[in-house]
Amino acid sequence: MNHDALLFQDLESVLYTREQLQTSIAEMGKRITRDYQGKSPVMVCILKGASLFFCDLIREIDLPLEIDFMATSSYGSSTISSGEVKLIKDLDRSIHGRDVLLVEDIVDTGMTLNYLKKILMGRGAASLRIVTLLDKPSRRVAPLTVDYICFEVPDAFVVGYGLDFDEKYRNLPEVGILSPRVYAAAEKEKGAEAPHS
Ligand code: 5GP
Repeated sequence: MNHDALLFQDLESVLYTREQLQTSIAEMGKRITRDYQGKSPVMVCILKGASLFFCDLIREIDLPLEIDFMATSSYGSSTISSGEVKLIKDLDRSIHGRDVLLVEDIVDTGMTLNYLKKILMGRGAASLRIVTLLDKPSRRVAPLTVDYICFEVPDAFVVGYGLDFDEKYRNLPEVGILSPRVYAAAEKEKGAEAPHS
């Protein structure tokens, strides 16, 4: 997919290209490999947004790791988070005594990961660290330490490489800022709410 492709026309700007994403993910994979020498961590993908990042990241980690998946949905609108998070898919196996790495697409208010962290520590994980492709620290509400970050992003609504708007744009191979005319059009068509900016 090149920059003339249909999906790219809805971006205001590209933030990170395929090459930049892959370079940063490879470096992160090496760091995790070093930090977890002699261990067999459980890597947990938070669906659906982190799925592309997760698949690329685990292939850059040279450890006998295991994978599992969780999914959450947030109550409230896309503009105002109520702070309540609902677990809609749980892990398949126990993480008692295991070293867990929670892999997220973007940390925004921090509420989702704060909630998941509490649940997993309550189940007796030996350790728990947070890995994210993107971090938006300017929007943080919940106290949260993010251990591995590929990129910091400005306070704008970003899509691509797994991140969606209204379930679209996940297959865009790069990360970019969604053009405001896209949510204006979506609002007009079906009363969808614009994401926060
Ligand atoms: P938090 O609980 O940290 O506020 O929310 C994290 C979730 O909000 C992310 O997993 C993602 O689904 C969504 N989110 C936050 N900011 C953005 C953004 O800029 N773009 C997209 N596509 N999703 C976002």
